[in-house]
Amino acid sequence: VTLKYCSSCGEEVHLIIPEGDNRYRHVCKACDTIHYQNPKVVTGCIAEWQDKVLLCRRAIEPRYGLWTLPAGFMENNESNMQGAARETMEEANARVDNMRLFSVFSIIHINQVYTMYHGDLVEGKSSAGSESLETALFQEHEIPWHDIAFHVVFETLKQYYRDRRQGELGTHYCEINRRPDGSYSVTYC
Ligand code: ZN
Repeated sequence: VTLKYCSSCGEEVHLIIPEGDNRYRHVCKACDTIHYQNPKVVTGCIAEWQDKVLLCRRAIEPRYGLWTLPAGFMENNESNMQGAARETMEEANARVDNMRLFSVFSIIHINQVYTMYHGDLVEGKSSAGSESLETALFQEHEIPWHDIAFHVVFETLKQYYRDRRQGELGTHYCEINRRPDGSYSVTYC
């Protein structure tokens, strides 16, 4: 993301390598504040109910109208797991029990880290929150694979069903990057 103005004093910033650093940073010409930019954390949940998985259809851009697992940016003053539960409540009015970490994705080309939890959808209940057009429960063969909003969600669901066929949910770390031709490299480590 290119910055133009300093959020501390409002003057212009320029892109330089600060002394003692080895990367370009946006630095204020007036007050010398260094505006570091670092990856953001997105946290979400696979909420399961009787062999079905909860998906939400997006009511917002990007990817309006496509299906996703409930997930969103972590807020300050909450834990990573609390964030996943909060997003599930906000997007699907759904509560989740017995949450445990399922996968961590480092998504290099968009500077994001995704953490996906697995848990039990309480009473199988959900409904559309303000960012969703609708919510629904899907068995594997019902998943709208061609209408999934984000590659990381597609990959999370694929790994979840691979684990289920093996009889046990693991904990996974995966790196996703976009190649110049627009395809994705997906590497489990
Ligand atoms: Zn400044």
